[in-house]
Amino acid sequence: MSSRRLVPIAAGVATLLLIAGCSSSDSDNQDSSSPATSESPSTESDETMNSDTNVKALPLGDGNISNKPKRGYVMSCVDTFNGGGASEDGPWISGDTWNMDKKAKVEGKVKWPDAKLTIKTKGDNRVISGNGLPDQPTGKFPVQESDPAYQYDRNPNSIEKQSVDWKLPAAPTEAKEPTCLPMNTIGISLDGAAIFNALDAMGRDAGAHEVLDECWGHPELDGRYHHHTNPTCLDDGSGDEHSPLLGYILDGFGIYGLRGDGGEQMSNDTLDKCHGHKHEVDWDGGQQDIYHYHMTYEYPYTVGCFTGDPLQIADAGQPGGQGGGPPPQ
Ligand SMILES: [Zn+2]
Ligand SMILES: [Zn+2]
Repeated sequence: MSSRRLVPIAAGVATLLLIAGCSSSDSDNQDSSSPATSESPSTESDETMNSDTNVKALPLGDGNISNKPKRGYVMSCVDTFNGGGASEDGPWISGDTWNMDKKAKVEGKVKWPDAKLTIKTKGDNRVISGNGLPDQPTGKFPVQESDPAYQYDRNPNSIEKQSVDWKLPAAPTEAKEPTCLPMNTIGISLDGAAIFNALDAMGRDAGAHEVLDECWGHPELDGRYHHHTNPTCLDDGSGDEHSPLLGYILDGFGIYGLRGDGGEQMSNDTLDKCHGHKHEVDWDGGQQDIYHYHMTYEYPYTVGCFTGDPLQIADAGQPGGQGGGPPPQ
């Protein structure tokens, strides 16, 4: 495991952005951002009537990477990002916000009948095994040239089977100190897909930049299908109750959907620095007062740091090529 310290992160990211901008040399879509002009920010007053997040103007998380736990940030184990990503900012990104409702989605409804995921408790362990394929339809990957999403993110990867064979603590406990998140897998979603942190391979806000399918997933370089954000096909975020369990993080704690008790939409302000809190929830067939994470519409979307000690897995490590753009060499 790499545990390099983060120091000149802001400068590093800025440089990489420049390089990335230059590298998409076969980009031929200068006029593609014209649909953005129809956007009008003047409708915001409606959104502020309740406490729900305004998904039409989510703060862009670019640069919110830290070497210590920090609310609204990803505490990242790596500080060097050199993978591929979306080749061009879509018109849903405007200044320092992005509009979830306007984001392009990868087309298609590809089924994965071989999807496997089993979760069993054995003694002190929660044993999770599966093949990484999702049990719901995905978009068609690699992104097809005919897909409108192609002009922003040419994700060249195909969805492939993976090997998931984990033993997590069935009754996880909080560690003395939170720890950093690796790139790639930080947990598993109950649809069989991996959960990644909020960063794309260039260290940017993956939820905003990377073009995802209808269920907000896509494959990285090794074909691992994953979510950086709320897996919308498991939970669309509606309702007036606490969201259901949506997956497990590598430290054994559960991650639930967008809503807390009474249906209150969770945000960075209502959660701790790692993106969790503790209260009574459905857990292992009963009600338990236990720490758990929540998805949010806001960056970092899933988890900001590990609250418990994470299982070390081979997949976690350096940034690869999670997103599209020109195929990484
Ligand atoms: Zn909760
Ligand atoms: Zn990704």
